[in-house]
Amino acid sequence: QARGAGRPGGLGRVSYEDIGGLGKELQRIREMIELPLKYPAVFDRLGVEPPKGVLLYGPPGTGKTLIARAVASETNAAFFVINGPEVINKFYGESESRLREVFQEAQRRAPSIIFIDELDALAPRRSEMGGEVERRIVGQLLALMDGMASRGQVVVIGATNQPNALDPALRRPGRFDREIALRVPDLHGRMEILRIHTRDAALADDVDFARLAQLTPGFVGADLEALCREAAMIALRRVLPYIDYQSGYIPFETLVNLNITMADFQA
Ligand code: ATP
Repeated sequence: QARGAGRPGGLGRVSYEDIGGLGKELQRIREMIELPLKYPAVFDRLGVEPPKGVLLYGPPGTGKTLIARAVASETNAAFFVINGPEVINKFYGESESRLREVFQEAQRRAPSIIFIDELDALAPRRSEMGGEVERRIVGQLLALMDGMASRGQVVVIGATNQPNALDPALRRPGRFDREIALRVPDLHGRMEILRIHTRDAALADDVDFARLAQLTPGFVGADLEALCREAAMIALRRVLPYIDYQSGYIPFETLVNLNITMADFQA
């Protein structure tokens, strides 16, 4: 596997190891989605209906997309992404047929996960909207979810930053009836996330994750990832003066010494 191919944010597989600070949330997601996808017979036997829809909500950059992709990778489920605003804008006039197509294809290729990002754009409270078209899109989504055979072989994961902006009909039983809140990570979570995003980097001995986590309250996963990227760029800039631009030659020792230090993080 190519280096970086499985990194979060890349196009490759995402594993549970790539997710930091969400141990409990991940455990619940796995019970709700992974078990029914992998062992439908167990759920039949217990007479329990696996969820058709799970709602992930929380501030931007807290890992909603990352979790959905990890569950799909780890269960080898086909993964379909519907972007709320895109379906409304780009497929305007064809939004309902676009939704139908995705649901049909997902059922054909089951086990599958349909991830609806920014669900609130697709299905806002109907009472607050004027348009007949928007009303029809919400109706279509509800009909598609109601029409899905239960048994957990197709699971819809919806993501939103504003759960209260959603049409309440969406959160009734048989639809998005399980919800998981993703919060801004705490100190321990931030440490885990920083470790994950520096896993492949050459780190100097002085890099102190506990200290970095203390300095970054309020940072979400996406912010911490950006911080690590920035530190790597600063480390790279330190060696740029040694590059011979004529030949493009970088002295080997320079590359070996390309460490990220505490100072790079704090710059
Ligand atoms: P949005 O609401 O903006 O769509 P989101 O909650 O879906 O945000 P992601 O797209 O999953 O956020 O996160 C963006 C990037 O931030 C991820 O690709 C990952 O690199 C990093 N990230 C976010 N949360 C975590 C986490 N808990 N552990 C490790 N990395 C994380």
